[in-house]
Amino acid sequence: MTQKKVKYIIIGAGLSGLTTAFKLYQKGETDLLVLEARDRIGGRIMTEQHIDFGATWFQNHHEHLSALIDEVAIKKFHQFSHGKSVLVYNSMAPAHYFENDPSYPSAFRIAGGSIALIEKLASFYRDKIHTNTIVSKVVELENKFVITTNTSNYIANKVIITIPPRIASNIKFSPELPADLVQDMKNTHTWMSNAMKVGLTFKEPFWKAKGFSGTIIGQIGCVTELYDHCCVNNNNFSLMGFVNEALRDVSKEERKTKILDYIQKYLGKEVLDYVTYQEKDWSQYHFTASNDIKSIYMSPRYGNPKFQEMYFDGKLLFSGAETAAIHGGYMDGAVLSGLNAAEKIISIA
Ligand SMILES: Cc1cc2nc3c(=O)[nH]c(=O)nc-3n(C[C@H](O)[C@H](O)[C@H](O)COP(=O)(O)OP(=O)(O)OC[C@H]3O[C@@H](n4cnc5c(N)ncnc54)[C@H](O)[C@@H]3O)c2cc1C
Repeated sequence: MTQKKVKYIIIGAGLSGLTTAFKLYQKGETDLLVLEARDRIGGRIMTEQHIDFGATWFQNHHEHLSALIDEVAIKKFHQFSHGKSVLVYNSMAPAHYFENDPSYPSAFRIAGGSIALIEKLASFYRDKIHTNTIVSKVVELENKFVITTNTSNYIANKVIITIPPRIASNIKFSPELPADLVQDMKNTHTWMSNAMKVGLTFKEPFWKAKGFSGTIIGQIGCVTELYDHCCVNNNNFSLMGFVNEALRDVSKEERKTKILDYIQKYLGKEVLDYVTYQEKDWSQYHFTASNDIKSIYMSPRYGNPKFQEMYFDGKLLFSGAETAAIHGGYMDGAVLSGLNAAEKIISIA
């Protein structure tokens, strides 16, 4: 096996890891590599056929993400929400219809899909990202780290681990990490790792023509949230939403039938004329989800102080959305943790 030596190794090419690499690069610290297990970059940000199957929305109070988007000159736009929205609140009662108050602007989306931010960050150091590289072991040896992967061994002075803590607890460390830290890593739910999304593309945004916003909300439905997901230039037309986890265990065909029947009931039979139908079940992606999925709809407490500490004499630290004390789990938390990681890792000689 070959060995590659660098100053910094960032494990994980999600938003957090790519933000750290971007900031290190800006500070002239270019002797780095980003190791990514998947064959693609972005982690929980994944855009296919113009549909965000991972992270999508953010708000003004997501300051760190907003500032990064502005800094790298990516455009944002408001989630479309004009027209009648549907609220399904009771299985016995008819649906309710409501309209958004235009004085409360809807959340933002990233033009070109959330992947546009990922691609832009990576464009500054594309050749430093090694995909299909699964880290299994981190060993401290003579004041450096030897990192074992499925392809090569790497040697680094400093390491930043941006893998969700629960998944990172599968990595073997030598010497071992403190037992209470490992326990906290195992106990930290990976935000949205149990989510299922559906995306449908169409030739025309038929719902808009009928005066619907495309929004359908209701925990009792097959699709708990559905939204218009047309592109900013209004040249790709789609609906995207979250699938009720009760449908996880039925066959794909049955799930598809139920989902289409459900949307058809509220938006009309035109939904059956979709061009493409896609689902993503994040519980199936082992670089995001662990086997013991638990449904968590409210954001758990993130930002455990143990994840802010530095280990191995300041040469190893943790980052990623779940480590952030502010907006933990969200893209903003991923960016904040990525910025902090870059500052901290440079500060230790
Ligand atoms: C369905 C869904 C919807 C969401 N919606 C929103 C939203 O609307 N707004 C919002 O703000 N946030 C949302 N989120 C959350 C958002 O996606 C995350 O906060 C953010 O993308 C996390 O970035 P990260 O870099 O911390 O982690 P990740 O994106 O998980 O990146 C970690 C990376 O580590 C890699 N990795 C794992 N194991 C290894 C290994 N052994 N070796 C090497 N690499 C490894 C993974 O492949 C991954 O690329 C959503 C997430 C999902 C899944």
